Formats: sequence, C-alpha cells, structure tokens
Amino acid sequence: MPSPAVLYLTPPEELAALWPDEPAYRADQLHHWLYQSPVLDPDEMTNIPAGLRAELTLWPFDLEVEQLADGGRTVKWLMRAPDGASIEAVLMGYPRRTTLCISSQAGCAMACTFCATGQFGFERHLQAGEIVAQVAYAAAYLNANGLADSPARVTNVVFMGMGEPLANYANVKTSIDRMTSDMGLSARSITVSTVGVAPAIRRLAAEPWRVNLAVSLHAADDELRSRLVPLNRRYPLAELIDATEYFVNETGRRASLEWTLIAGTNDTMKQADKLARIARRLRAHINVIALNPTPLTADRPPGPGATARFIERLRAAGANVTLRDTRGQDIDAACGQLRARAVTAGA
Ligand code: SAH
Repeated sequence: MPSPAVLYLTPPEELAALWPDEPAYRADQLHHWLYQSPVLDPDEMTNIPAGLRAELTLWPFDLEVEQLADGGRTVKWLMRAPDGASIEAVLMGYPRRTTLCISSQAGCAMACTFCATGQFGFERHLQAGEIVAQVAYAAAYLNANGLADSPARVTNVVFMGMGEPLANYANVKTSIDRMTSDMGLSARSITVSTVGVAPAIRRLAAEPWRVNLAVSLHAADDELRSRLVPLNRRYPLAELIDATEYFVNETGRRASLEWTLIAGTNDTMKQADKLARIARRLRAHINVIALNPTPLTADRPPGPGATARFIERLRAAGANVTLRDTRGQDIDAACGQLRARAVTAGA
C-alpha cells in the first residue's frame, strides 16, 4: 500500500507498521538505509523492491541551496520544510574529523544582539526527525561525494546552527537518542551549545548519554551579559555557572565556554580576568572566536593585536584557551550568520 509517511519523521520503531503486508525484514532494511548507511535517493536502496522505492519519501524538506567554500572543505545547506520553515546545516572538514553544525529551531527567540539568527526572530521548533534528517543528509552527501582531505563520514555533531537547543528540549533529546542508538554516533562526539538555559542544563546532566556542553558566555559579569544575551536576565551568571558546575560534576564531561570577541565590548582585560576565574572554577576550556559581522549591528571583531592580547591575558591567568578559526564566512555560513529566511526574502 502506498504510504505518504515521510520516513525521517517516522520514529524508527514505527517503520514496520507502515508496511503491514511486507515481510518483517523490510523494516530492518529501511532502518539500515535511513540510519546506518544513508542515501540521498531511495533508488540507491538496492535491496528494496523498485515498486516500493518509488513510493518512499525520505526527506522532510527540499534542498534549496547547497554552497561550497574554503576549497571544498565547507558545505552549507539550506533546506525548506513544506510549511516554509528554513533549516540550515554546515559541514566542516578537517584532517581528522568532519563536523556537522546543525539547527534545532528555525530562527531563534533568544535575541542575542550579535547573532544574525537572533536578529531575525523565531519561526518554530524543529521536530526530532527534522534534526536527525540534517545528520542523515550530511552522511548521505558524504557517502556520495566525500569531502576534500577529511573523513567521508560525520564524526562530530554540534548544535551550533540556528536555534537554542535547550529551548526545544524534548525534540533535541529524541534526536540525540536516535543519533546515539540508531546512527551509532558516540555521545562524546556530540556537543550541545546553549546560551544558558540553566534548568535544562541540569536536566541534560541526567540523560543516559553524556554529550559535551558548550556554554555561550560572551560576558563575565551580569551587567554586560544581560545586554548581549537577554536570557541572562532570567538566568543570571551565578545560576548559569552553578548549573554548569553541576553538569560537569554529574557527567564527568568537560564544559567549554564560548566567547565571541566584539571590539570595545567584551575584549577588555577586566573581562579576561573575570572569564579566567570562571573557567578555572569550572575547569572549562575557553573557545574564543572573532565576531562574524551581521547586518543589523555596527559590532566588529577586534583586530589581531587586541585579540592576541585578550588570549594572552587568559593564558597568563592559567586558563585553557583556543582561538577558533572561522569557516564559511564568504557564504554566510559562519557562526551567527545563519538566517535563511531573511536572506531569501531579500532583506
Ligand atoms: N543557541 C546556541 C547555539 C547556536 S549559536 C548558543 O547560543 O550556544 C552557536 C555559537 O555561535 C554560539 O556560541 C554563539 O554565541 C555564536 N555566535 C552567534 N553569533 C555569532 C557571530 N555573529 N559571530 C561569531 N559567533 C557567533
């Protein structure tokens, strides 16, 4: 019987029920093609009868844009769901890992001042299947095309695309369930990045899998942080730091602190000193990334000298810190630049 079901929106355990007349092993074969060895097109599912293949709908979105950058080591996808919601994912190849940056929401309600997604507002939560489908799509792409000088499989997943993952907890949780049980990804290779939803960080610590936690800090006192990250007014620094410490103690995982460096705003020695104290207390690694400019503010990244001084000050204070490179800037795929709806609307 033809089935209108979109397979990545169907919970894996419900696949069998879609084809009651097919032999029992059919669901296992489909599960293999969907989760273990994803393919872009159902016609590549060689052990599924052609008649059935013709009726399958895999993806819950249409691919609208595929762009390559950085010498073929960065690929950005803009997908469009039937209701018009945009979903963006960015694949980044390195010599020993291939990292996929995925979205958990279309748009974002957090309104961080320096982030393009935040500047353009919230569309809706993504369903678990829409999150998993981004990972499967990248896996299928890699199976078909590979990636320059990098592993041809998704080795790492980071929730650093559009949206605040901990504001869409249930769907993010289900998506991680599927990535770890159905797709065979290790929780160690998955990073949830949050702007600081403190109660949800505590909840995350109680999940059966232990993912990595990235906390987008950006400011080391409440006055500045509340200006840059409005959610800080609801969960101020002390509460966020307590929740992060709880997560680290409960899970044995290290947390990282993300710091988008904005000239004249959070690149001062005073902020560096306060940040170093927080990092030492949490035994956390600091990732500094220079701001990628976005359309609605005049914020700019500091020059190389100021960036180096900030990093040097952190190191001198005994903090672990890495200056992260930025990928995909020329295709608006860099951190904080995802904002498909506005781009396609011509804004
Ligand atoms: N909402 C989550 C995940 C999405 S943002 C979070 O805030 O962590 C992923 C990372 O990109 C965050 O660390 C965020 O602060 C950073 N970011 C946002 N806008 C940026 C910009 N314009 N330049 C550089 N990094 C940015």
